[in-house]
Amino acid sequence: MKLSNKTVHTLKKDFPIFKNNPGLIYLDNAATSQKPKQVIDVLKKFYEKEYANVHRGVYRLSSNATELYLKSKEIIAEFIGAKPEEIIYTRNTTESLNLLSYTLPSIINATNKKRDEIVLTEMEHHSNLIPWQQLAKRGGWKLKFIKLKGYELDMEDFKKKVSKKTAVVALCHVSNSLGTINPVQEIIKIAKEKGALTVIDAAQSVPHMKVDVLKVGADFLAFSGHKMMAPTGIGVLYGKKQLLEKMQPFMFGGEMIKKVTLNSATWADLPAKFEAGTPHIAGAIGLGEAINYIKKIGIENIEEWEKKLLDYTLEKIKDIKGIKIYNSGKNSSGILSFNLEGIHPHDVASLLDEQGIAIRAGHHCNMPLMKILGVPGTCRISFYLYNTFEDIDALISTLKKIKDKFKK
Ligand SMILES: *Cc1c(COP(=O)(O)O)cnc(C)c1O
Repeated sequence: MKLSNKTVHTLKKDFPIFKNNPGLIYLDNAATSQKPKQVIDVLKKFYEKEYANVHRGVYRLSSNATELYLKSKEIIAEFIGAKPEEIIYTRNTTESLNLLSYTLPSIINATNKKRDEIVLTEMEHHSNLIPWQQLAKRGGWKLKFIKLKGYELDMEDFKKKVSKKTAVVALCHVSNSLGTINPVQEIIKIAKEKGALTVIDAAQSVPHMKVDVLKVGADFLAFSGHKMMAPTGIGVLYGKKQLLEKMQPFMFGGEMIKKVTLNSATWADLPAKFEAGTPHIAGAIGLGEAINYIKKIGIENIEEWEKKLLDYTLEKIKDIKGIKIYNSGKNSSGILSFNLEGIHPHDVASLLDEQGIAIRAGHHCNMPLMKILGVPGTCRISFYLYNTFEDIDALISTLKKIKDKFKK
């Protein structure tokens, strides 16, 4: 379905939050997304009619729950071009990246002890920074950061920093502050030539654009369900099968074992090896349904619509005097950071909130990036498929009023 302002107004009716909060203009989709009734209904149905634990029971209810759980993996795998056994459920992107920071060293050491550098970028979310910092602190690893050139990555700097010593290259597909879409295919190709492992933080890409893991070429890719209309508490780590098979588990306990004695244990096959304990069954089923919802509209159509919203905003926002925009204008997804000269971002956000407009203000889990931009924080708007031109008109006119108010 091609999206237009008219069709989006119809789609918006699928989201009860807007009916229950009349006048709400929700522009904080990079933080989390609203849920359509299709997803909410599936959760309700599961808890009211189908609920049981997975894998354990031989009774009908449990085997049905197991089937629903496994089906959700097939839906996700198909959506990103992976195999179901390459989909590991985690709580969120953060947990997926932590898992890697703990378990990747087990396969790097095995292949080459001299590889001790981890290449990140200056625009990483804290989730793709602090786990690697902690790994470096545990000893034996060094961090390197690809510099920015404007609001994009400096590819020359990347080529200098990646070498035969690089163990891991880990970066975001789309920056959650700048909206920049990084040239991940090119970066991964170069990283692979040097023999490095590659990790993509896809928290801001998988919900908004077509991502095919084989095309991207990364060894690992992480994203969160709650940013793509699914419940909180369910996230995904994709990994190439032959690598996941070699890696040590991250957590230990029930469901992830093959055979256990009092003093030893062996591990289950993929993906169970990485899913210790009872998983977020309802969350997984909800994520499958959220992807069904996206597929019905078409991810390409969502991407195209958000691009239209961004272009429309960039065109209108220029007219506001004293506005500073932190966006390259090209190669950007539907995320836009800005500041109004002389007004603290938190003040802008609270004044917008008085008009029912929800935006994020602050460092967006990007403190080092804010330091590079030379600001304590920014205002950030971010779109999803239910945003309309009217949302942007309201934003712009309110920003103009805020600007005038502060002039006096
Ligand atoms: C939101 C986000 C994360 C963290 O996601 P969680 O769901 O909070 O774990 C990581 N990276 C990027 C780029 C994000 O936008």
